Amino acid sequence: MTSHIMPTYSRLPVTFDRGEGAWLFDENNNRYLDALSGIAVCNLGHAHPAVHQAICEQSKKLLHTSNLYTIAAQEQLADQLTAKSGMDNVFFCNSGAEANEAAIKLARKYGHEKGIANPAIIVMEKSFHGRTLATLSATGNSKVQLGFAPLVEGFVRVTYNDINAIKQAVEQNNAIVAVLVEPIQGEGGVNIPATDYLNQIRDLCDHYGLLMMLDEIQTGIGRTGKFLAYQHNNILPDVCTLAKALGNGVPIGACLARGFAAQLLTAGNHGSTFGGNPLACSAALAVLATLDAEQLTEQAEAKGLAITAGFSARLQGNAHIVDIRNKGLMIGIELDRPCAELVKLALQQHLLVNVTNETTIRLLPPLIIDGQQIQLLVDTLSTLINEFTA
Ligand SMILES: *Cc1c(COP(=O)(O)O)cnc(C)c1O
Repeated sequence: MTSHIMPTYSRLPVTFDRGEGAWLFDENNNRYLDALSGIAVCNLGHAHPAVHQAICEQSKKLLHTSNLYTIAAQEQLADQLTAKSGMDNVFFCNSGAEANEAAIKLARKYGHEKGIANPAIIVMEKSFHGRTLATLSATGNSKVQLGFAPLVEGFVRVTYNDINAIKQAVEQNNAIVAVLVEPIQGEGGVNIPATDYLNQIRDLCDHYGLLMMLDEIQTGIGRTGKFLAYQHNNILPDVCTLAKALGNGVPIGACLARGFAAQLLTAGNHGSTFGGNPLACSAALAVLATLDAEQLTEQAEAKGLAITAGFSARLQGNAHIVDIRNKGLMIGIELDRPCAELVKLALQQHLLVNVTNETTIRLLPPLIIDGQQIQLLVDTLSTLINEFTA
């Protein structure tokens, strides 16, 4: 049968019918362990009753009104997000790329208010910020950009995890108004920078009057063991973008801003028909309540440690392992060779993993993963890796 879906994805040959926690079930009721959470989306696992209930209840009352009117759930969600993040206000949208679009527009507005006609934003090599024209232009991956020239102007690219590279770029270009960076690069290969990298960026942005803009779309919502990854550094950015796990599968994105950055976008500057609608916001409110009630953020650190310790033990003596690294439940196992094939081999063992940057196995298990499931993940995947590299 020919598919009438535009072939923008190379899909694996499996269709899931339902989920329960860290498990997914295919159409023949075979069970798979999900160590990817729909790419860091279903942090509470699949079919979480709190999210299910919130969506059901809200759908009985109201799905959508538009942003022509005040939306109670949106107000509540903004209150909670700002309280949890230390930011001042929020613009709601429907995806990560859109959240970054808002951040990019905000930075440009800042530049224009400073009298800079062509403001520029510093972005990183190996970064990923989305697939819209502005966000693919900000992304540091030529494959994402190939075929889509002309790109959006106004991005200056530097090496990740190199504070001097940012400093040099700023000193050479007085049109620079912001730095846009992931606290940990996800798509780029689970690249974890030096522990004080974000602190150094904060100092540099303060010194030069730049907006510090953090893309927390993959790292946020408890994934790394803090609600937001920058909270490991005891700093506050000026702008922070969220999406992925915010709705646990219900599409929602958010651009948070603080201080003067929170006042830059005003009526008529930006908008979204669906952004922050009652359905999406009630799902996100259920996500935040559940993170707190089940103390899932706090568990991410110990679970991440258990997983990496398990792999270190099982892969000990395998000379083809370059590195095993993690921050909470954002985990990378880097091999000395391309290993995309492992995704299919794992699928055959009913385990869902991902490979990014060609040589790094990426694991983003749901925060609700339990001890037995961790054991199964470590056993299955380390056996596969040892066979693959043998
Ligand atoms: C997934 C991701 C995006 C893009 O989000 P979409 O919802 O796919 O538009 C942007 N930045 C980072 C860091 C991401 O991981």
